Amino acid sequence: MDFQKLADLYEELEHTSSGNKMREILAEFFKKVPEDDIAVISYLTLGQITSDYEGVVLGMAEKSVLKAIGKAAGTDESRVKKTMQELGDAGLTAEKLLQKKPQTLVPVGKLTVKELFEKLHKITDTTGTGSQEEKINILVNLLQKASPKGAKYIIRITLGTLRMGAGDMTVLDALAMAYTGDKKNKEVLEKAYNICPDVGIISETLAKKGLKAIEKIDVHVGRPIKMMLAQRVESLAEVAEKIPGRWGVEAKYDGERMQVHKSKDKISIFSRRMENITAQFPDVVKYLQEHVSGKEYVIEGEILAIDKDGKPLHFQVLMQRKRKTDIEEYVKKVPVQLKLFDLLYYNGKSFLHESYETRTNQLAKMVNVGKHITLADRIMTDDPREVEKFFQKMLKEKQEGIMIKSMDSEYQAGTRGWNWIKWKKEYHTETTDTFDLVIVGAFYGKGKRSGTYGALLCACYNDKDDTFETVTKLGTGLTDEMLEELPKKLKRHLVDHKPARVIISDIKPEVWFEPAVVVEVLAAEITKSPSHALGLALRFPRFIKLREDKKAEQATTSKEIKQMYKDK
Ligand code: ATP
Repeated sequence: MDFQKLADLYEELEHTSSGNKMREILAEFFKKVPEDDIAVISYLTLGQITSDYEGVVLGMAEKSVLKAIGKAAGTDESRVKKTMQELGDAGLTAEKLLQKKPQTLVPVGKLTVKELFEKLHKITDTTGTGSQEEKINILVNLLQKASPKGAKYIIRITLGTLRMGAGDMTVLDALAMAYTGDKKNKEVLEKAYNICPDVGIISETLAKKGLKAIEKIDVHVGRPIKMMLAQRVESLAEVAEKIPGRWGVEAKYDGERMQVHKSKDKISIFSRRMENITAQFPDVVKYLQEHVSGKEYVIEGEILAIDKDGKPLHFQVLMQRKRKTDIEEYVKKVPVQLKLFDLLYYNGKSFLHESYETRTNQLAKMVNVGKHITLADRIMTDDPREVEKFFQKMLKEKQEGIMIKSMDSEYQAGTRGWNWIKWKKEYHTETTDTFDLVIVGAFYGKGKRSGTYGALLCACYNDKDDTFETVTKLGTGLTDEMLEELPKKLKRHLVDHKPARVIISDIKPEVWFEPAVVVEVLAAEITKSPSHALGLALRFPRFIKLREDKKAEQATTSKEIKQMYKDK
């Protein structure tokens, strides 16, 4: 397919302010895409060149990209810089300067989507001495082959700032509409996507083999599975209503979730965001090799920083292990312990549809417990008094709380269902609650906060409609450091219009952001409010921290907040 067609689609999507309209446009477009191109086009629509878990980051430095624009347009760097200053966006700069391209032998508009995709991969694969020059040359060649409008989008993809407004769920919706004619089939696609979070594989399988083949998509060792999540309750007494029967009650540790995949010759570790974090934890790879048996497996647990006696340390201590350099030094400085709690796959067999009891029994057989690797603390009971006692014990041991799990439930990938319930110490001691919300807009600061943002407009995620509904304006709790950091963090997501999936009511921000950055917010109360899209608002919100481990779609959902309001 000619890349110009995709550029025209981007242009149309960029001017669309409704999520539904966006899905329709995408679906119409997908119908015309040759089946060999659908995977590539699905990735590119999300501004990516692979799925998240492959860890391929395009992100060429802006300086190099501007150099490439100058070279392709046959103009000097000072003019490129000046135009960039005027327009404030490298894509627009390319579009403007490439209006008058120098004579080249390559005819305009003959860049195919495949070629673009391959060359973008080549840019990321080029390393070592002289690689910057080579990357620039590849980009120059692409820009020369594209139209000015095409160049605008190539630049944005290269910088990782496409901001088309579409998320994974938008693409799945459009795929269902285009290939099955029925939006409802998105559910089937989503179920498969939870086990195989790769829009390329999903779209190609659907286009080439149909819905039946989608239903057969199964665990593949080395490809992360979306993690199962927990619901919250208002009181421990509710647990018996929600989960009849016996419970596996585990400690809820305040560390980082890990999903470990072992194939015959390799161990890979994935985070909650499904990023490959194996390189950060060479010690854990070694412990796994020494303490967990099985040729192939997928297991889950929580990693904690520990002191020399094996006692858990604060989450912030563990965060020092999130690094790209001095890894061996920090392996020694910050020892860790992996607390295993689930098994998803073992020696050729998926355990997703097995009960919690079967999964954890098999896990226990595989683990030879040691200081750095052990099973999660757990009791099995149907007595609420035992649960309360275990909870108190866990608090004494400085854990975050407990997880109560249904003994006979399956592993529901990517789902926050009632088979897992969390109970944390804040629920117990305070009337406040925390929420993970997405920043969708901001207001300029005044007085002490001039030059930065004074308040943020935050939204929860409506997972049914795939939209972000505003629910609070957040100004309290932001430290001076955070106020300085935020504009830098948010710059990549800045857009000049309301993103299509964002829904607002009366409160409209002064600047907009593509939903991407998640913050944890503490609030005293939920009240009715016509000012926010949800129809509810959080009162006295206070910023707690950035949730860099979460994507926008992993924010607290509209449904959860409505439920909490009802329960109050
Ligand atoms: P929170 O902010 O409370 O951690 P969350 O939205 O990140 O909530 P939840 O579904 O509420 O996620 O809680 C699950 C998280 O708790 C997991 O992602 C994992 O990191 C952590 N966790 C700690 N101990 C356990 C355990 N025993 N079983 C499952 N998850 C656990």
